[in-house]
Amino acid sequence: MVQPGDADYDEARRVWNGMIDVRPRAIVRAGSAADVDLVLSAAQRAGLPLAVRGGGHNIAGHGTVEGGIVLDLGALRAVQVDPQTRLVTVEPGATLLDVDAATAPFGLAVPIGVIGGTGIAGLTLGGGVGWLTHSDGLTIDHLVAAEVVTAAGEHLHVDEETNPDLLWGLRGGGGNFAVVTSFTFRARPLASPVLGGNLVYHRPGWRNALQALSSWTAGAIPDDMNVIATFMRPPPLLELGDEPVLIIGFAWASPDHEAGRTLVTALTEQAPPDLEDVGPVSWIEWQTAMDPVFPKGSRGYWKNVSFSGLDDEVIDVLVSHAGEVTWEGTGIDIHHMGGAFERVPQDATAFPNRSARYWLNIYGFWQDPADDERLSAFARRLHAAMQPFAEQGEYVNFLGAEDGSATGQQARRSYGESTHRRLVELKNRYDPGNLLRGNHNIVPTV
Ligand SMILES: Cc1cc2nc3c(=O)[nH]c(=O)nc-3n(C[C@H](O)[C@H](O)[C@H](O)COP(=O)(O)OP(=O)(O)OC[C@H]3O[C@@H](n4cnc5c(N)ncnc54)[C@H](O)[C@@H]3O)c2cc1C
Repeated sequence: MVQPGDADYDEARRVWNGMIDVRPRAIVRAGSAADVDLVLSAAQRAGLPLAVRGGGHNIAGHGTVEGGIVLDLGALRAVQVDPQTRLVTVEPGATLLDVDAATAPFGLAVPIGVIGGTGIAGLTLGGGVGWLTHSDGLTIDHLVAAEVVTAAGEHLHVDEETNPDLLWGLRGGGGNFAVVTSFTFRARPLASPVLGGNLVYHRPGWRNALQALSSWTAGAIPDDMNVIATFMRPPPLLELGDEPVLIIGFAWASPDHEAGRTLVTALTEQAPPDLEDVGPVSWIEWQTAMDPVFPKGSRGYWKNVSFSGLDDEVIDVLVSHAGEVTWEGTGIDIHHMGGAFERVPQDATAFPNRSARYWLNIYGFWQDPADDERLSAFARRLHAAMQPFAEQGEYVNFLGAEDGSATGQQARRSYGESTHRRLVELKNRYDPGNLLRGNHNIVPTV
């Protein structure tokens, strides 16, 4: 346990987002899943707020809490892979890189997010978007079982047959219902190297590139083509100059690289990039390529929007806002959804919206506190400008601290009425006292 006054207190209280500067009463580092019970009951007996921390990457700072107890699961990082069944069992403090590093030697991958240090726990509980979303869906679409401890101290096994209501809630509803001590995923076969690529466009080419991307993705592109387009002023290590650029990145998840190249040619013929870097790349290298851009302690306020039409009006909004970005430390990602992601029925998981074709993430990774207000305002401004095109639903993992996070208003906005109602019923059943409220909270009504 680490407390104020201890030599490592300042390091132990830090989370990824350097804007979160709070002072917990104690940070308890669980040495085994058994410690979870002790911490849950201690927090309840003391009447102190509790934060559960996996990888500590939550943008809203939900991995810590002012004046309360942090249950830090970060030391529990083991990942076990059964190559026969493709089942991957993961402890709750594992990072995305821990998971990729364990599965890659077997030619397997769990569809997860894109930065290696991110925690598998928070990422999974919110949904999990990444380089395999079009080909395979979200991380939660591969979550087949979990072991949890409830606020009442019950240890439950969760899968499709046992406590299926809870499995539904863990698939997108955040850490609202129980503390997960183990996740089991079904991995997919993935031959490494994959065909990965970045098509880089300078400002004059942006509009044409987005129009080409729009018609390319509106056609029936195969599931295996995963696309994320990014606007940013690139950090020096990317060696792309000082001007903001649009990078259309893709990961082709099929071993038939020629077919992937042919498909991309259809895009580049319509919108020839200024720079192009396409070729085979090891899966781990691809997954961690951007890690140095997002070091712990970066500052960030994130917003997101789901939408379906990448038409001229939307392109105008994106290009005009991206054109303002003369600084380093914010980015705008356009995730192409669809494919396997949209074939999962809406009510099969708690994830808010399966039909939107794109998910826009406006994010920060700046270093100077003097930029906090201006760059947070940029994220809010672009978010507001996209509202006329927005569909229902916001992704809780791409959200900063919002006014309605504690009152339940943010969760209502994020999930929409009917999913939110179902989540409240689940909350009433599993955490009626709202011990687990360090999240975009589902507020119980009992
Ligand atoms: C640099 C960076 C890159 C990112 N990239 C992606 C990406 O590619 N795709 C994507 O989908 N998201 C991405 N995210 C967002 C990420 O999914 C969320 O920030 C997520 O909350 C991080 O999980 P964590 O375990 O690291 O966070 P934490 O701060 O530790 O926890 C997040 C939330 O989950 C709860 N929680 C954690 N562990 C448990 C547990 N065992 N049981 C119950 N509740 C628990 C916490 O209480 C908290 O509410 C990224 C974030 C950052 C900062």
